[in-house]
Amino acid sequence: MHKLLTDKPGESMFLLGNEAIARGAMEAGVAFTSTYPGTPSSELSLNFFQMSRESDLYFEYSTNEKVSLEVAAAAANSGVRSMCMMKHVGLNVAADVLMSLAYVGVTAGLVILTADDPFMFSSQNEQDNRYYAKFGGLPMMEPSSVEEAKEMVKEAFALSEKLKRPVLFRTTTRINHSTAVVTLGELPPRTTRGEFIKEPMRCVTVPAVSRGLHVKLLADLDRAQEMAENSPFNFVEGSGNLGIIANGVSYTYAVDAVRDLKAKDRIRILRLGFSNPMPAKLIKNFLASCDQVLVIEEGEPFMEEAVKAFAQEGGLTLPIAGKTPSLFSRLYEFDPAMVRNCMASFFGIAHEPAPATDLSGTPALPMRPPTLCAGCSHRSVFYAVKKACEGQDVIFPSDIGCYTLGFMPPLGMGDFVICMGASAGTACGFSTVTDKKVVAFVGDSTFFHSGLSGLINGVFNNHNFTLVILDNRTTAMTGHQPNPGVDMTELAMENYNTVDIEAVVRAVGVKHVSVVRAFNVRKTMDAVRESLAFEGVSVIIAKEKCALYAKSLKQLKGKPFQVNPEKCKNHRECIDALGCPAFYLENGMPRIHTHLCVGCALCAQACPENAIVPAKSL
Ligand code: SF4
Ligand code: SF4
Repeated sequence: MHKLLTDKPGESMFLLGNEAIARGAMEAGVAFTSTYPGTPSSELSLNFFQMSRESDLYFEYSTNEKVSLEVAAAAANSGVRSMCMMKHVGLNVAADVLMSLAYVGVTAGLVILTADDPFMFSSQNEQDNRYYAKFGGLPMMEPSSVEEAKEMVKEAFALSEKLKRPVLFRTTTRINHSTAVVTLGELPPRTTRGEFIKEPMRCVTVPAVSRGLHVKLLADLDRAQEMAENSPFNFVEGSGNLGIIANGVSYTYAVDAVRDLKAKDRIRILRLGFSNPMPAKLIKNFLASCDQVLVIEEGEPFMEEAVKAFAQEGGLTLPIAGKTPSLFSRLYEFDPAMVRNCMASFFGIAHEPAPATDLSGTPALPMRPPTLCAGCSHRSVFYAVKKACEGQDVIFPSDIGCYTLGFMPPLGMGDFVICMGASAGTACGFSTVTDKKVVAFVGDSTFFHSGLSGLINGVFNNHNFTLVILDNRTTAMTGHQPNPGVDMTELAMENYNTVDIEAVVRAVGVKHVSVVRAFNVRKTMDAVRESLAFEGVSVIIAKEKCALYAKSLKQLKGKPFQVNPEKCKNHRECIDALGCPAFYLENGMPRIHTHLCVGCALCAQACPENAIVPAKSL
């Protein structure tokens, strides 16, 4: 049985933040869950996926975040408690739905988890999604710890039903990926079937209806603000006339810093967990009782600006600071030492910063840039495209997935990457305004997510580029989640269909389509040359299962390769052109780690001396 289905109230369990949130949602009776995978929220979805195989919970990996929120919106408007999860940039994709769903509302609880990623551990930006709550006029909750996250998500469902609005549940990587002991609560029976009651004057957002809905949304925001004033998630602790206002994980850093600075009787903390709309009265009262206030929040000065506005309204002139060059930055994650130093500096508390660790004598760590795995089929396609394009000035727009790493040397394939599904769209622009050839890359999951619309645009507007669809039969980067092109029977799962990428590409009107095996370098190069000679939109579908996914399915049959020292001329074409991590140098000569090599035979095709051969053949 899945551990999060353990029905033992009161028992303790050591859980990852994402597991704790999933458990909290189960204790809230969530019955319908949907997502498009994205780090740092991926494990949350994975746990729902696994639990849905053993319970009456519904879960789906949707084609993108917009669709994911659409399906959840329908379920929550049919009386079924629903949760929709995504990473922060995913909410950009879902924003169109979000803004109107805020007007329409829900009839059963709908919690939308947005997992923000300060420091961009695995993201293209570090946007602060608290602004979506303000933008959409939606209540928002932000936990400060793993334990609190489990409890708070239950309150988020309750709040959603009280207000009949979706609630944003905003986490950051540090909450999603920390572990802690949590106490299990009860698992109530779920309401899995609902009824949709037709209410066109609420649910159909034509202008005449929406004008009334906007009035109601603002009225509900006033109600939400009253709730925030009295929410147990917004509290003041400590004593003294120096004030801190903090949210999320910054609050726990602040608590530690107050202790380390021995300032418990001088500093009071206002923690905001129900953070949109902000509790104006609570904040004004707090400000009125302080001589100075420091606002501690990662990301943007979301609270700080509001707090300063409340001070102005209240005629309060105390110093309030947060994001300034001498204090906190709008960049990256905070850490306990940084918070302690800023706090000591702002409040003028004598403080001896911990001496820096003496690292002299420690050998420098070798550089370990991220790279495509040994045996990754993307490496083969990039190599073939690069070879085929030699001597030509070609622009290579790329997309979001493992293959984004193709921009790293030695492959160097990826000139422009902005967001999911943008490679084909940007290819349209590059091919229109430059005289250069354009070869764009997109993965299979990203193709279904939003790459298809750029391709359709290219066909309709008669653009001239080649789109290479790197079909590795899974959503590899976030941990092998399925996408509509995946054969679910290989995972022993029924009741799914498979959408054929080639049929889709042909159906939208692409006239030049090639399908190649990704590891067949010669045929892939031929396909690229033919595509480049074609005027108009052409597509190459390069198929090969992700090596790690194939391994997990026990389908990896290749045997390791090795370098024949008799034939090797040590010009290192293999290493310099491919960068496969299975290679190393021994006495200056290329060698292959047989335990890393998966036997894809790409290096054997790249070696001009035929010096790379199956391991057993020497
Ligand atoms: S490409 Fe072949 S010959 Fe050249 S260094 Fe590598 S193994 Fe040796
Ligand atoms: S066969 Fe060559 S390219 Fe493929 S995994 Fe092994 S060493 Fe790497």
